[in-house]
Amino acid sequence: MKLKSKRLITGLLLLNAVFSNAIADDQLRLPDMGDSTGTLISPQQEKALGESFFRSIRAQLDISYDSDIQNYIQYLGQTLVANSDNPNQAFYFFVVLSDDINAFAGPGGFIGINSGLILNSESESELASVIAHEIAHVTQRHIYRAYEASSRMSLPAAAAMIAAIIVATQAPDVGIGALSAIQAGSIQMQINFTRDNEQEADRIGLKTLVRANFDPRSMPIFFERLQQASRYYGAGAPEFLRTHPITTSRIADTRGRAETYPYRQVPNSQDYLLTKAKLHVSSKQSSLKDLITYFQAQIEQGTAEQRAAMQYGLGLSYLKQQKSNQAESIFLNLNKLYPKQVHYLTALAQVSVEKQDFANAKDLYLKLQQQFPNNPDFKFEYIAILLKSDQVQQALQLLKLIPYENQQHPRYYLLLAQSYGKLNQAVNLHRYMAEYYYSIGQTDSAIVQIKLAQKAKDLNFYLSSILEDRLNFFIAETLALKELQK
Ligand SMILES: [Zn+2]
Repeated sequence: MKLKSKRLITGLLLLNAVFSNAIADDQLRLPDMGDSTGTLISPQQEKALGESFFRSIRAQLDISYDSDIQNYIQYLGQTLVANSDNPNQAFYFFVVLSDDINAFAGPGGFIGINSGLILNSESESELASVIAHEIAHVTQRHIYRAYEASSRMSLPAAAAMIAAIIVATQAPDVGIGALSAIQAGSIQMQINFTRDNEQEADRIGLKTLVRANFDPRSMPIFFERLQQASRYYGAGAPEFLRTHPITTSRIADTRGRAETYPYRQVPNSQDYLLTKAKLHVSSKQSSLKDLITYFQAQIEQGTAEQRAAMQYGLGLSYLKQQKSNQAESIFLNLNKLYPKQVHYLTALAQVSVEKQDFANAKDLYLKLQQQFPNNPDFKFEYIAILLKSDQVQQALQLLKLIPYENQQHPRYYLLLAQSYGKLNQAVNLHRYMAEYYYSIGQTDSAIVQIKLAQKAKDLNFYLSSILEDRLNFFIAETLALKELQK
């Protein structure tokens, strides 16, 4: 644990180095983002920076692509945004599969929440209080002040740098790997938010929490528990505290403000309980045997909703052990009790895939698509099953109907590549593998794929010019990033 914090410091020293080599590329150069009024960075630039940032994050952290988890965090986050002081700002929420207790905000409203934070929250209001706090850092534009130095960089370099800063606090080993080529320099980099920033984020986050009908008292309770954990763990304190230092006076302030609201009990949503059960099953810390013991021990405790969540967790643990029949009987039973609960429907679909009953899996995903027409995950799941049952043309037809805003999703490109692979169309296979690698921040691998596509036998003039354009674009971006390492 001590080693971890030493590495963190090394990481920060390396980060300081980066800004002395800020690059000049007029085409890509960003305006001053340090401006707190937000007038100097255009919404388009902010969006591009955010997307580039998210690609870098995808390359370095383990992001959950689970549709249930993604749905839940997105719903909770957007509910809070709708009640924030800037409800029209664009946000995107995602879960990082890491046992470290952390949450972080990047540019463009991209907010990451670690599974460790969700699992360590004892109520949905506690989880919401951290997310509301992060949202406030974004709406108050603290993040641009914190990342001020990156304003002197090109867009891909700035995005990679912000991602590296976050990854350095998150998982020091990875962060340093990403920055190892960078030499010492002089410009100071601020990674922590200031005390004023923190107090403002607490104050504004608390208002959001109240407006969204969560329990405001959960904020001081959760923060205090995190602070106590930091004393207990010493150097291995929750990462969240490194970037958001929690002081006793901050907790007291927040408690004072929270207590001005009348006391009310806010029950946890079923989705919160089910999401926690699912994350518990996917946590790297627990063995399968432990999981089954854990869920079985609690299956008779608490409210009907709590018992259902424990049964669901037990079912998922059986599924992980490939005991499909035991899992299925649990999910069928839960589905009978709560026919509208999406988690149970996706669990049943997963069981069908496991049993290679693709017809049933398709039926279930069709139903889910009708229930949630705007959710891309259910479409992707459905298309993946079409491919598994060799219905390639149908899969391609549906992929062509995926709306533009969902086409940045890595899964979209992977499914396209798989479809063309099944059709032995090598150019398109490699072309979409290139897009897939780019979407997860692995631009070097994207370049390799384009070069493979250029050598394929089915190359024609039209595809050749598309490939040329993309190759130039990818090369320009890697050059911008390599400037950082000079
Ligand atoms: Zn903070």
